[in-house]
Amino acid sequence: MPTIVQKFGGTSVGDPERIMRVARRVAKAREAGFDLVVVVSAMGHTTDELIALAERVSPIPDRRELDMVMATGEQVAVGLMAMALRELGCAATSLTGGQAGIRTDGVHGRSRITRIESGRLGRLLSRGEVPVVAGFQGISDDGEVTTLGRGGSDTTAVAIAAALRVADTGGCCEIYTDVDGVYTADPRIVRSACRLPRISYEEMLELATLGAGVMHPRAVLFGEKFGVPIHVRHSQKPDPGTMIARESQAMEELAVVGCALKEDLGRVSIRQIRNTIGLQGRIFTALAAANIVVDDIMQTEQGESTMIAFTVEHGDLGDAKEIVAGTLAQLGEGELSVEVGLAKVSAVGVGMKVHAGVASRMFRALAEVSIPIHNITTSEIKISCIIDKADGHKALEAVHRTFGLGLGSHATVAMQTDQARA
Ligand code: ASP
Ligand code: MG
Repeated sequence: MPTIVQKFGGTSVGDPERIMRVARRVAKAREAGFDLVVVVSAMGHTTDELIALAERVSPIPDRRELDMVMATGEQVAVGLMAMALRELGCAATSLTGGQAGIRTDGVHGRSRITRIESGRLGRLLSRGEVPVVAGFQGISDDGEVTTLGRGGSDTTAVAIAAALRVADTGGCCEIYTDVDGVYTADPRIVRSACRLPRISYEEMLELATLGAGVMHPRAVLFGEKFGVPIHVRHSQKPDPGTMIARESQAMEELAVVGCALKEDLGRVSIRQIRNTIGLQGRIFTALAAANIVVDDIMQTEQGESTMIAFTVEHGDLGDAKEIVAGTLAQLGEGELSVEVGLAKVSAVGVGMKVHAGVASRMFRALAEVSIPIHNITTSEIKISCIIDKADGHKALEAVHRTFGLGLGSHATVAMQTDQARA
């Protein structure tokens, strides 16, 4: 029988009734004969509350001690989940990350998983038990409890699925959330958006970092690296969800599978500066040192002088401006300006690698609704346009429409056929 890792997020285990509901679902799958590992996040908003609690004692809590406090959230949830399963007559044992063999690099607050010693998980499984593992945490080689960064339970689940080689057993990693899958666009903005039955890791990563927010990007990266199929499903509805897997030939039939909008961007522009060797390195090293994530970078040359501009999230704009101003002061040249109220609309699809005319179609769609494009960036599977924030929703709808992603459109039919074939 296939081995399946099932992960339930904080909302799905938010109160005792929901915990029982999840337990019934797990017990049923166990009865059907699947070998199961369950991963859970802390109940509801527990992690936020634990951080707030720590800050009341120490405004900037020590990282090690904060990990100690945060890790308790998942520990409560796994204990309760194992109890609920036992109530239903389903043999289950709760485990902290450390007890489950999840080893980390020891960096507090944002550890990486270095390996999984799956012996104990394997023994529990072979006894027919369901191990219930605390997400978001692990233990370093020095025995320190560390957490994986916010939203890290997804990564725990995919990493365990990789370590147990679930794909070889015909299983997968199931991520249960409060959305019923991955959509062609944010359904709160584009009403005709529809659920995608399948998406590739690459596309999901682009959409995740573009603000589609369904899955933690690190979990998707893990899935891609170890070939773990990830099934995103609604925890309360029986919907078929979305499968994240390797790209297939059929996926390339469509140039674009989804589009996304990233709002609240600002732009920093530097003008009247000579393009000396090392200039770019100096500016962006200073920004990186301050942990500022730069979105897109553009550079143009006009005669002797150069213009360099980049976009950042609104919240980072003030810091970015200050840092660049400092660098320009040291260099003794350059004019600095800052714009607010920008957004980025993007179209994503692995099929772009083999289809022509995708960019031109996107530009025409924006022109037809009179939206000016301030900048363009592309990758092998993505085209992005910087626009005014005020045009954001209209732009997303136009791009969604032009690639036929809406309900009942040709693209939807193609995807469904793809699923039927799979
Ligand atoms: N409980 C942790 C958080 O709130 C981890 C997770 O939910 O994945 O970030
Ligand atoms: Mg979460």
